[in-house]
Amino acid sequence: MSPPDPLLDGLNPAQRAAVTSDPACCTLVLAGAGSGKTRALAHRFAWLAQTQSIPPREIMAVTFTNKAATEMRERIEQLVGGTPPLPWIGTFHALCRRMLLRFPAEAGLPENFQILDRDDQKTLVRQVLRDMDQPRKQRDVANAIRWISLRKRDGQRARHIEPHGRNEELYIKVMERYEDRCQNSGMVDFDELLLRCVELLRDHDAVRQHYQQRLRHFLADEFQDVDELQYAWLHLLAGDKRPLFVVGDDDQSIYGWRGAQPDHMLNFERQHPGTKTWALEQNYRSAMPILNAANALIEHNANRLPKQLWTELPNSGPVRLLELPSGDAEAAWVIRKVQAWMEDGGRWSECAVLYRTNRQSQPFETQLARHDIPYRVYGGLRFFERREVKDALAYLRLCLNPHDDVSWLRVCNEPSRGIGDATLEKVRGEANAGGTALAEAARTVAGKQPEARAARALAAFNDCLADLRRHTAACGLREAIQHILEASGLGAMYQTSDEELEEMRSENLEELVNAAAAFEENFDPETYGKASVAEAFLDSATLEAGERGEGRGGHDAVQLMTLHMAKGLEFPLVVIAGMEDGTLPLGRDDSPMDEERRLCYVGITRAQRELVLTYALARRTYGKFYSNLMPSRFLQELQHANIAFETDGGMAFANPRRAAPAMPAGRPTPSGYPPPGAAVSHPTFGAGTIEEYEGRPPQLRVKVNFEEAGPKFLVYDVARLTPL
Ligand code: ATP
Ligand code: MG
Repeated sequence: MSPPDPLLDGLNPAQRAAVTSDPACCTLVLAGAGSGKTRALAHRFAWLAQTQSIPPREIMAVTFTNKAATEMRERIEQLVGGTPPLPWIGTFHALCRRMLLRFPAEAGLPENFQILDRDDQKTLVRQVLRDMDQPRKQRDVANAIRWISLRKRDGQRARHIEPHGRNEELYIKVMERYEDRCQNSGMVDFDELLLRCVELLRDHDAVRQHYQQRLRHFLADEFQDVDELQYAWLHLLAGDKRPLFVVGDDDQSIYGWRGAQPDHMLNFERQHPGTKTWALEQNYRSAMPILNAANALIEHNANRLPKQLWTELPNSGPVRLLELPSGDAEAAWVIRKVQAWMEDGGRWSECAVLYRTNRQSQPFETQLARHDIPYRVYGGLRFFERREVKDALAYLRLCLNPHDDVSWLRVCNEPSRGIGDATLEKVRGEANAGGTALAEAARTVAGKQPEARAARALAAFNDCLADLRRHTAACGLREAIQHILEASGLGAMYQTSDEELEEMRSENLEELVNAAAAFEENFDPETYGKASVAEAFLDSATLEAGERGEGRGGHDAVQLMTLHMAKGLEFPLVVIAGMEDGTLPLGRDDSPMDEERRLCYVGITRAQRELVLTYALARRTYGKFYSNLMPSRFLQELQHANIAFETDGGMAFANPRRAAPAMPAGRPTPSGYPPPGAAVSHPTFGAGTIEEYEGRPPQLRVKVNFEEAGPKFLVYDVARLTPL
C-alpha cells in the first residue's frame, strides 16, 4: 500500500484529475453545488506548492465574500501546513486594494486613500445633485449611483461614454463631478477599487510586469459571478502565459443584477484554447432528500447545463416545510428548533437562518436576543446599530430629552437641511458660552439673525423637533415613530428604489415601526418601573445593540444571513425563512425569476443534514398586519421532492386573534376529499384520522390527528395522504 497522501487521498477521481491537471494549461471545473469545487481549488493550491515547487506567495486564490475568503484560506492553510505567507488569498476588492496601496502614485491616489462606504457615497452624490440644482430625492440619488456603478463595472469613465438621451447626459455630468470629488478627497468607492486597479495594470507596463513576475498561478472560485472588470483584472495579471484555474456552477449565478457575466464561464474553453474541463457529479455535502429538493427546483430553469446531484451520504429525515400563522410565530419556531438542536448535542454555529432580504433578520434577532441565544448577523449591522435605525431613534431620544447633544448632532442635518459646519460651529460656541445644550443654543443662534440662511435652517430644525415632541407626548409609541419618519424627512430620504441597499434602509425603517408596535403591544409596566413605553423601548434597543449575544460564546453563534451571503458556505441545519411570493421570489414579474430560483437553489444546497423551509400566512409591514400572504411559487415546484408539509399545530392557534384572519374557521368537506373521521396514512407521520378542513384547494388545509405524532395541519394537495 502506498503511504497516505493528504493532498490527493481526500479526493475522488474527477477531483484528482482536476487538481493534478497540466499546470501549464487553463483548467475549468464546472459542477453542481457541494460537489467539491472549492475543495478541489484548495487542493490545487497545495498541489502546486508541494509538487510543482511554486511558492505559495506566487499563487493567487480569489473569491467574492470575506467569509468565503476566510474559509478558503483556512482550508489552504491546513493543506499547505506550516505557515508560509499567503498574501494573495482574498476577495477581489481586498486584493485590488492591496495593489493600489503598493502603487498609489501610479494609480493617481494619495497614499492614505480611504474607502468610501455606501452611505458616504450617497451623501456625496446627493451633494453633487444639489450643486447641479437637480432633484435629489432618495430615488434620484439611488438611480445615479446605480448608473455610475454599472458603468464602472463595465470599465467606463465619464469621458468615454457617449450619451443616449438627456438622462444620460445628466448622469455623465454627475459622474464627472462625483469622480472629481472622490479624487479631491482621496476617496475610492467599491467599484473604483477594481476599476482603478484595472487601469493601473493596463496603463503601467512596469506595474503589470511587477505582478506578472511575482504571480504565476491564478485560482478563482465562484467564477459564474465574475463581471467584466473582474474578468479583465484577472487577464491583465495572467497575461497570455500564466494559467487560470477556475471553478463555478451556472446554477448558482446570482449576481446578474449587478453585472455578473456567467458567459465568461460558459465561453471559457473557447476563449482559452487548450483548457482542460472537468465535471464533478458526486455531492458530498447534503443528504439525499435535500438534493432531491434542489434538483426538483432547479429543473424549472430553462437554459442550464443539465446536472443531477447525487450523494452516498446516509439518508436523513425529509425536508420539512412549515406553515406558520405569523412572522413572530416563525421566529418563535426557529428559536425552539435551535434550542432542540442544542439539546440533541449540536452547536449554535451549526444552525443557519437564511432569508432573501436583510430586513428579515429583525424578528429573529429580537427573539434570539430575548432568549439569550448567541447569534451573528452577516452582511449587515445588527438591526439597532444600523444607521437609519439609529437616526430614527436619535429623534425619539431628542423628543424625550432635549439635552441629548449626541442625538442632536446626529440628526440636525439628517436629512440635509443646510446646517453646515460653520453654523454648527456657531451653535457649539453659543452652547459653550451659555453652558446650555445644543438644542437650546440653536434656538438662541436662530433668534439672533432670523433672516440669515443658517438661522432659518436652524429654526426649521427647532420647529421640527417641537412638532415631534408634541406628537410623541400625545400618542402611542408606534404612531410616534411613524410620525418621526414622516415629519423629519427620514422616511422620504430612504424612499424605495431599485437599488438594493437603499431599499434595505427603507425596509429597516418599516421594520423599526413593526418592532415598536410589537413592543407596545407586549409592554409590561411592572418590568420597567416608572419608565414610559418610549423610554423602555429605547433602553431595550440600546441593550440589544450592545455586546449582548454578538460575541458571547466566541464563534459558537447561530448564523443569520441573506441567501446571497450564504453562497459557498455549508451548515448542518439550514432554515430558509420567508418562503412567500413577493419575498422569495422577490418581486412579481417573470424576468428575474430564473435568478431568484437559483438563489433559492443556493439556499437549499447549503444544508448538510437538515433543511427546513418556512413561510408565514401573515406578517407585520409598517406596523400593519397583512394576513393574505401566498406561499412561494417555488414550493409548488418542490411538490414531487417528497417534502413533509406541516403547520405548527401548537402555534397556529396560540394567538387566536392573529390566527383568525389567516385561518378561516372550518368549512364543510370539499367534494372529492375524504370526510372528517376518515382514516388516512402519511409517509412521515403514519396513521391518523381526518378532523377538519380549512381553506380551498390548492391551499386546502386539513387537520389530521395522528396516532403517534398528534394533531397536525397539512396542505392536503401536497401532503401525500393515502386513505386507509
Ligand atoms: P458550492 O457549489 O456550494 O460552492 P463546492 O462545489 O465548492 O460547493 P465544497 O464546498 O468544496 O463544494 O465541498 C462540499 C463539502 O463536501 C465540503 O464539506 C467538502 O469538504 C466535502 N467534500 C468535497 N469533496 C469531497 C471528497 N472527495 N470526499 C469527502 N468530502 C468531500
Ligand atoms: Mg464552493
